[in-house]
Amino acid sequence: MISIEPRKILEVPTSLLKSDDTLNPTKVEEAFHKNITKKEYVDKNNLYKQSDVQQKLKAIYYNKCAYCELEFLERDMHIDHYRPKKSQNLSKCDGNYAYYWLAYSFSNLIPLCPSCNRYKSNCFDINASNRILFDAKKQDLESLHFVTQDYNKYEQPKLIHPEYDNDFEKYISYDRVGKMMVMIHANHNEADKDMIYRLRYSIKTCGLNKRRDLVKLRLLFVNDFIELLNASVLLFKTTSQKEDLQYFKSAIDFFKRHAKKDSEFLLLKRFLIHPKKIILLLRDKDTKVQRVIQKAILEYARDLLEEYKILQS
Ligand SMILES: [Zn+2]
Repeated sequence: MISIEPRKILEVPTSLLKSDDTLNPTKVEEAFHKNITKKEYVDKNNLYKQSDVQQKLKAIYYNKCAYCELEFLERDMHIDHYRPKKSQNLSKCDGNYAYYWLAYSFSNLIPLCPSCNRYKSNCFDINASNRILFDAKKQDLESLHFVTQDYNKYEQPKLIHPEYDNDFEKYISYDRVGKMMVMIHANHNEADKDMIYRLRYSIKTCGLNKRRDLVKLRLLFVNDFIELLNASVLLFKTTSQKEDLQYFKSAIDFFKRHAKKDSEFLLLKRFLIHPKKIILLLRDKDTKVQRVIQKAILEYARDLLEEYKILQS
């Protein structure tokens, strides 16, 4: 789960715009006026699954799942409705509500891996006391593609939206076994706490700490990188008396090769490359060594630190 640049209005895929039987505005309006049930409306076709929609979502999310950041290589990409298009009784969430009129709304579509999709299912809880209801008289059918941000302001969903929620990454850290942690600190205000509760809800709803295969994959990268750094520390201590940053270049280069925009688990990687946080995970607690590693990160990964806005914090 990383912050993603919000999609643009010109990017609505053609499949969602074409005037076929279901999406022709007049037909849709008729359907609404006749109070067609959510199931009948949604099951008419699966235009939101067309390849141009898939390609567009893949591009916006750098070919990764919106929540767990697994790459869509051989795994299927599921197109999920952020606000569910069908209702379903689920014990794990409070609400049981469908937004069937958003079945083809572009801003309501997010790319998920099969596991996140299965975990999230039709869960969509909100903090506001009232939900948005479909109103055929007021609904502007053409604007349906970009209602998510406005709906979110009104309903205050608990589930984070990677494009329409900002500044949530700073609350997330990782423990030594690859699990995500979201902790409340004494200096947090009410807005911080609200975001933290929402992050916890999102992590739980998508099973981001429960799925063993996912946690294991995250841990694998942590271990690989930390072990490379630990090996560099050994070499540095046995052969160098000076503050020679070169000893750590290959470990940092390894990291950079795996920290491209389309790399998996970028949120974890932004945590790992933080000069103050990385030293907490190292075996060696020698402050001189820690200082040299921090300098090496600033020297060899400055571009990443700037891109991740770590230098400002
Ligand atoms: Zn996922």
